[in-house]
Amino acid sequence: RAKGNNLTSYELFNVEMRQTVQEIFELETSLRQALEEQQFILHYQPIVSTNSLQLLGFEALVRWVHPDKDLISPRKFIPLAEETGLIIPLSEWIFEEACGQMAQWCAHFPIANSLKISVNIAAYHFQSPQFLATIEQTLAKTKLLGKNLKLELTESLLIKNTDRVLSLLPQLQKQGIEISLDDFGTGYSSLNYLKRFPINTLKIDKSFVDGLDYDSNQADVSIIKAIIYIAQSLGMNVVAEGVETDFQRKQLQKLQCEAIQGYLIFPPLTSQEATNFINSQLSVISNQ
Ligand code: C2E
Ligand code: MG
Ligand code: MG
Ligand code: MG
Repeated sequence: RAKGNNLTSYELFNVEMRQTVQEIFELETSLRQALEEQQFILHYQPIVSTNSLQLLGFEALVRWVHPDKDLISPRKFIPLAEETGLIIPLSEWIFEEACGQMAQWCAHFPIANSLKISVNIAAYHFQSPQFLATIEQTLAKTKLLGKNLKLELTESLLIKNTDRVLSLLPQLQKQGIEISLDDFGTGYSSLNYLKRFPINTLKIDKSFVDGLDYDSNQADVSIIKAIIYIAQSLGMNVVAEGVETDFQRKQLQKLQCEAIQGYLIFPPLTSQEATNFINSQLSVISNQ
């Protein structure tokens, strides 16, 4: 047996494991509390036309405003919420909040009626038997029209739930709801799936967009070209995510990518900032 500081790798592993388990356990407890105490808020990141920068819609992104910790990334707490089942009440809250906000914008600003709010959908939420009913009830409750709503699904969700996707997507689209495929190109993409599933928009992952800079990575350029070509051939729209420089925007414009999202335009905004942005678009139009 090891003595003093001479821990065997087994024991060391155990100490590390215990710390991680403890951390996860604490995060889990505070996640539960966060839901009860409504510590979540949504931010809204503009999606705009690549050429004119005209506002097309927003992506809703959840934030956890923990009372005594720094902002915790959704990349950390969403997977944790999935493990604990808290993802269902959290997703339902996100969905209702996003739809409610969009409905409010539509009621206040005529131009908002042509915008779409994009909501990220967690796999567990999608898999739950009440998914479709919840969506319909929330639209009815918030008085949001389906045409103002877009759902962002990932490739892995698509592939793990092919039957369910094939039966649900047409039912959603019948109500005017559109479907985006998020982080496209990073998952297990099969062209066969693209053909079979009625997807409206491909979102090109930031990792490819990153390669579109002054010394452009030719492989990334080729991949983006190919994605845009596939999208056009199948009648889908394309959005590039994580656009940070005007050089990238110009490259994407040349490649005929119609919409962009990223820090170049705006980071995710608070609802107040997003409201101001819609307002500023209004005055742009009335000044013309
Ligand atoms: P995502 O859906 O691909 O969202 C895009 C992420 O990229 C967001 O990170 C956004 O803040 C960030 N981003 C946007 N533009 C730029 C840019 O120009 N540069 C850089 N470096 N980053 C940019 P965020 O908000 O931290 O979200 C991370 C991921 O967490 C999301 O990736 C999504 O998978 C998940 N997520 C976020 N909100 C929700 C939600 O409400 N529900 C679910 N199920 N998942 C969510
Ligand atoms: Mg997304
Ligand atoms: Mg994305
Ligand atoms: Mg992404």
